[in-house]
Amino acid sequence: MDIRFASLPDGYALTVALGPGQEITCRISPPPGRVAFVDILPDVFAVADAMLAQAARQAAERGQAVTCTAGCALCCRHLVAVSDHEALLAAHMIGLLPDETQTRIRQAFQTTVARLEAHGLLAELLDSHANSFADRNRIVAVQRRYWEMQLPCPFLLDERCAIYPYRPLLCRQYLATSPPVQCHGSFLADHLVHKLPLAYDLASAAASFDGLRAQMSRPVPLPALLLVNGLLQRHTPPQTTATAMLTAFLRHTADHFSR
Ligand code: SF4
Repeated sequence: MDIRFASLPDGYALTVALGPGQEITCRISPPPGRVAFVDILPDVFAVADAMLAQAARQAAERGQAVTCTAGCALCCRHLVAVSDHEALLAAHMIGLLPDETQTRIRQAFQTTVARLEAHGLLAELLDSHANSFADRNRIVAVQRRYWEMQLPCPFLLDERCAIYPYRPLLCRQYLATSPPVQCHGSFLADHLVHKLPLAYDLASAAASFDGLRAQMSRPVPLPALLLVNGLLQRHTPPQTTATAMLTAFLRHTADHFSR
């Protein structure tokens, strides 16, 4: 992967060569000076969106256009686990929304947590993600129970994501090319829901990157975001310049999360 930054008056044009004849370019405006990974997530999202747009164009040329549309939020009933960085950003974004929206989101989180507790799933959800995320059988069992409850994500207001520009990488990457009606299918219905093939898994890469190098993945289940936010804030992440951090992240992705 070849990575180039060209200075602009308000940031950089970032060009990433993903392979022979496959290049994406996007504008980024990272903060100056030393930053933590959470500070450059908007720039990571810009890179992800450019990669996803290119993958969508290529799929459309093969007759497999993305079928996701605004207002469809069937996938927002799945259990989403995000990187600790994205969890911090999502929690921060709540405080920047209009008061009424903040109130609705906080109430949605309270309702979701209460329903998980009443269903006997909250403790298992927290423990499995904190202590055995590599145990796929256990995680899938939790995901299945969660999906069966059909709980909307607490950020989903009126069937739209309240933090859409800042939604996590996993949400961005979940793009279907099969008819939307098939997303009503059963849990883990890969035979029904065909997803856009992607060259890189940026969501998993972000979860296992501390800002400079690989870290043990620290997934945060989104419904528990406000329960664990205080713990996340106690951690002091490594810092460096935005261009050095983005370069390290993209190399980490290419080395460990190519598909
Ligand atoms: S964060 Fe937004 S896009 Fe992701 S599951 Fe929640 S509502 Fe859906």
